[in-house]
Amino acid sequence: MKGFKINLHITEKCNYHCEYCFAHFQRNDDLPLEKWFKIIDDLKAAGNISAINFAGGEPVLYKNFPALVEYAKSLDFPVSIISNGSILMNEKLMPTEIFKHFETLGISVDSFDETILRSLGCCDKKSKVLSKENLKRIVERAKSVNPSIKIKLNTVVSKLNLNERLTSLADEIEISRWKFLKMKVFTNKNFSNKYLTISDEEFQDFVKRNPLKDGVGVAEFTLTRSYIMIDNEGNLLDDFGDSYEIVGNVLEENFSEVFSRYQFDKELYQSRYDLTA
Ligand code: SF4
Repeated sequence: MKGFKINLHITEKCNYHCEYCFAHFQRNDDLPLEKWFKIIDDLKAAGNISAINFAGGEPVLYKNFPALVEYAKSLDFPVSIISNGSILMNEKLMPTEIFKHFETLGISVDSFDETILRSLGCCDKKSKVLSKENLKRIVERAKSVNPSIKIKLNTVVSKLNLNERLTSLADEIEISRWKFLKMKVFTNKNFSNKYLTISDEEFQDFVKRNPLKDGVGVAEFTLTRSYIMIDNEGNLLDDFGDSYEIVGNVLEENFSEVFSRYQFDKELYQSRYDLTA
């Protein structure tokens, strides 16, 4: 079915505090489950959304995350997740059975060097980071109930992990896609990640230092207006420039109406995704 993938940033809560993180929507109250069900129904009715990616914050921290995944699946949406990985071994928050529902399991991997991860803020309050060994255990756990689950890794490249060499991991576990993302500059009243900015040349050097098989590695300089995102209050956001503007709220109007006002860059999107998938 043709259509677009939508990213539901269902919670702003996160147990990490990454220095570059853009998920500072300043809206801390997550929507109740029924409201997300309503949004998902509306996305189905819109007809142009073909897949749902759960994001955050850390999406697993959304209260009753498994019920949300099951609901999206019951409406035949292929579902995926992007997680920091830290609580994917937690049976209570992420029951093993839930992995069955995912087409793709996405995990953020910015470094395997604990010092770098801690300076990036990619750690919990006790400074615990996601080690390579734990990442491998998560993949094993997911595959134990869903052998065909695709593993996708995301690496945000910034000043602090610029010299990393990570991709030898692809010799140890099967990775379907590894995205390198040039850190997006983001500022608002209380937050700026500008000091972590890198140049296009620095980003290209990082990509060269981290080779992957054809079709696995993807380098993304920008996602601007090619990433469809709804925040934890149901707002469709426009990521143009250094901040995020609200296009409209999909609980107040239907998704199609709000989306028609978003200056979506379909060409850039198409260059990033296979629309036939
Ligand atoms: S893990 Fe993700 S949501 Fe959490 S602070 Fe880091 S970038 Fe932000």
